[in-house]
Amino acid sequence: MPEFRIQIERLTDEQERFEFEASPEWWSAREPESEEIRVSAELPFRFDLKASRTGEDVLIEGDLEGRVLLECGRCGKRYPHRLREPYRLVLEPHRLGDDQQGNRSTFDGAGGLDPEGERGLAENGVSLGEDLEAGLYRGAVVGLDDFFGEVIALAMPIQPLCDEECLGVCSHCGQPRANDSKAGCDCQDEKIESPFAVLAQLKQRMED
Ligand SMILES: [Zn+2]
Ligand SMILES: [Zn+2]
Repeated sequence: MPEFRIQIERLTDEQERFEFEASPEWWSAREPESEEIRVSAELPFRFDLKASRTGEDVLIEGDLEGRVLLECGRCGKRYPHRLREPYRLVLEPHRLGDDQQGNRSTFDGAGGLDPEGERGLAENGVSLGEDLEAGLYRGAVVGLDDFFGEVIALAMPIQPLCDEECLGVCSHCGQPRANDSKAGCDCQDEKIESPFAVLAQLKQRMED
């Protein structure tokens, strides 16, 4: 049973606002493997959205806001990372008859849905398209759990950095190195090291 639901019949062509909050528990139940991403308990994922219906098509648009604790790719420190991601999803009704007729070939090219699409429709009433901007719905209720999960994944940084200028950790003491905007360790060697050596080590670290 999806946690985040919108009832189709209630929607009109005027945008209605919905506010959904996805808790850290929701995330860890969904992604038990992803230990490296911890959701900040003070600021759960917020999906502030507007939904409307034109004929049978449903339009959902809004923004994700959230804060996760990520591990910096350079110094390994955990830091709060703010997530922001706009999204827009257009859903068309899926009808059982469409499969045989092959009318809805937009999503699979062959008529009929792939197993993932079928699972989505059975569990959430929604089958998402490849690009995450379009999909199909079936039944009276649209469940947005899978969609929200995808939006969160999309918002995650590819290389998390605690600070754009992060210089990683000191090879002597293991503490974060100082940079122009941040205090670091007190190792003398580090301080007198030439900028070129620092850059070389930084490059090395990025290649590792
Ligand atoms: Zn860092
Ligand atoms: Zn040091």
